[in-house]
Amino acid sequence: MRDPDCIFCKIIDREIPTDLVYEDDQVVAFKDIQPRAKTHLLLIPRLHISSLEQLEQKHQHLISHMVLLLPTLAHNQGLYTGFRTIINTGLDGGQEIDHLHIHLLGGGSIE
Ligand code: 5GP
Ligand code: ZN
Repeated sequence: MRDPDCIFCKIIDREIPTDLVYEDDQVVAFKDIQPRAKTHLLLIPRLHISSLEQLEQKHQHLISHMVLLLPTLAHNQGLYTGFRTIINTGLDGGQEIDHLHIHLLGGGSIE
């Protein structure tokens, strides 16, 4: 369920403070600590799943819940004309935190 060394599990358990924007019984969404756009959220499952590689059939409902939630999260941030979603997977996919997460970016670059 939970990985004691995982930063995102600690965020879920409120051991690390974060700017939470949404939560329900399955997922949590919060602001990325190093935003690469005016809006940069991370949407994560409460369940510790390391990456897309570890997704199984039993996670079907969870992953569809996450994807279906994205437009609402974007609208709640004032993003009505579009947004970008990114899932980095594994070492060569640029994944730094080994807890499945969907980046939601929009509102223009801040770089
Ligand atoms: P990845 O490269 O794994 O796809 O993305 C990990 C993201 O998590 C990065 O964009 C990074 O800025 C963000 N991040 C890392 N540590 C923390 C943290 O402690 N709090 C928050 N809010 N974001 C974090
Ligand atoms: Zn975790």
